[in-house]
Amino acid sequence: MALLERSQNEQGEVLFTLKHPGTLADIGKFTAANADMVKDATAKAHKAQKSWGALSFAARAVYINKLKIAILDRMDDVVAVICKETGKPEAEALAEIAAACDSMQYYAKHAEKTLKEKSSRVHLMFPFKKLITTYHPKGVVGVITPWNFPFSMGANPLAQALMAGNTVILKPSEVTPFSALILAELCVEAGLPEGVFQVVLGDGVTGAALIDSGVNKIHFTGSVKTGRIVGEACGKRLIPCTLELGGKDPAIVCADADLDRAVPGVINSAFFNAGQACASTERVYVMESIADDFIRRVVEEVDRLRQDDKGEIDVSCMIWDNQLRIVEHQVAEAIEQGATLLAGGKRKENAEGLFYQPTVLTDVHHNMAIMQDETFGPVLPIMRVADEEEALRLANQTSYGLSGSIWTGDTQHGLDLARRLHTGCAAVNDFGGLCYGAAEGSFGGRGDSGIGYVNGELGLTSFCQIQHIIVHRFGPKREQMWYPYDAKSNEGMKKFFNFFFRSWIGKFMT
Ligand code: NAD
Repeated sequence: MALLERSQNEQGEVLFTLKHPGTLADIGKFTAANADMVKDATAKAHKAQKSWGALSFAARAVYINKLKIAILDRMDDVVAVICKETGKPEAEALAEIAAACDSMQYYAKHAEKTLKEKSSRVHLMFPFKKLITTYHPKGVVGVITPWNFPFSMGANPLAQALMAGNTVILKPSEVTPFSALILAELCVEAGLPEGVFQVVLGDGVTGAALIDSGVNKIHFTGSVKTGRIVGEACGKRLIPCTLELGGKDPAIVCADADLDRAVPGVINSAFFNAGQACASTERVYVMESIADDFIRRVVEEVDRLRQDDKGEIDVSCMIWDNQLRIVEHQVAEAIEQGATLLAGGKRKENAEGLFYQPTVLTDVHHNMAIMQDETFGPVLPIMRVADEEEALRLANQTSYGLSGSIWTGDTQHGLDLARRLHTGCAAVNDFGGLCYGAAEGSFGGRGDSGIGYVNGELGLTSFCQIQHIIVHRFGPKREQMWYPYDAKSNEGMKKFFNFFFRSWIGKFMT
């Protein structure tokens, strides 16, 4: 029985019915938006953008703060919707609300500083000219999101794109449409003008229609496979896209690591959201000298994780049966190829839903898919290494480069190692995924983990069209390099170049 069923009625409408991943009870249905509906939404968003983009930062911030308060006012409803469609424990749904509210509060307060018009001198032409940098909205931004954090993955780019003066159309995952719908409801309650935020529901067909509908930018979060398709489609239309894709994040546990922190830290970063986080720890490299102790303590603690489908839950069910099958396949294949199973390794017995036991594997090697491909489930493969150089070599030996973590008793040394990870972000004695929550930092992957940034200055400016304007302030009516060219002015230029590029004054003015 599939969690998501697609059907088509006589009028050609595509219908989806969904089940709760933890209980498999029916939770609702929806009709997919077709290409015409998506085009209509885009036209409406363009119209709304004219007045939204003309608002001051302060006026936009008032709306975004109202949206944040609307979320807080209906926190229990939002939690209920997130839990209904993902089966997450309440604590993990609350983490999504925290991320959404923090993003709204942060960008409402700080976007203006990053995006306000700036004036600067132009070094070579100083003092005759000045340079103005302005940040215009792109226009309409299409946001396409995955199912693992259905509320915050939409709300975070929404806050940034709106503060930059864009209007937004969100196409959530077909697996988790209802969090997007409640976000739209909250925008109405917060009084956002019509057309500033809209949701179109459907699968990849609707996502492709959104790219094709006349939007000015796509902000995509999802798998590498779909990211390539989205990147190609945007390339054909010459619209910019940000691609926030998958990861295979390594954790390196050094010989001097404080295991009282490293053991629960690695476990939480591997099993948070049942491992369905782009930046969850998917591989551990532990120094041989402490490996026995580390592995024993990890297994003891993983055995204590609760996964009761009726009561207390630490590691929730998986959100989609398709992903669960990938996890089962990777674990079975690794065991077949020589991995040793120390915990979990199968679905939870007698559970109705998609519960997969938190799993620990050792004796893994880099020819296994479990050490190379994204697993996106509650699985922690641990590899013993002779030293930190081997750990770094292996950590950097995948096509991904999203995040990673170093666990050590020496923070400075940890920083040195973190700088050598081929990743977009990293943490020392913490969960690398936390970087996504640090709004001051721009978050983006290397290699197959993506192109572009969300969050921070680079994320915010990615929602803008940057325009530079040179203003002539004073000086000669005719510039030295204007027509007519003649030998005298060429000689003058040679003298100027020699002066400017050789002298300390030139270097000072640059
Ligand atoms: P997915 O790529 O299958 O789907 C993502 C979205 O793309 C969905 O809304 C889907 O309907 C849509 N889509 C599918 N085909 C499309 C097409 N041809 N054109 C336009 N849109 C299309 O990903 P998923 O399974 O929903 O999510 C899991 C993936 O997301 C994992 O790889 C995870 O690592 C990644 N992820 C990355 C980040 C990050 O910030 N880097 C964050 C969360 C999740």
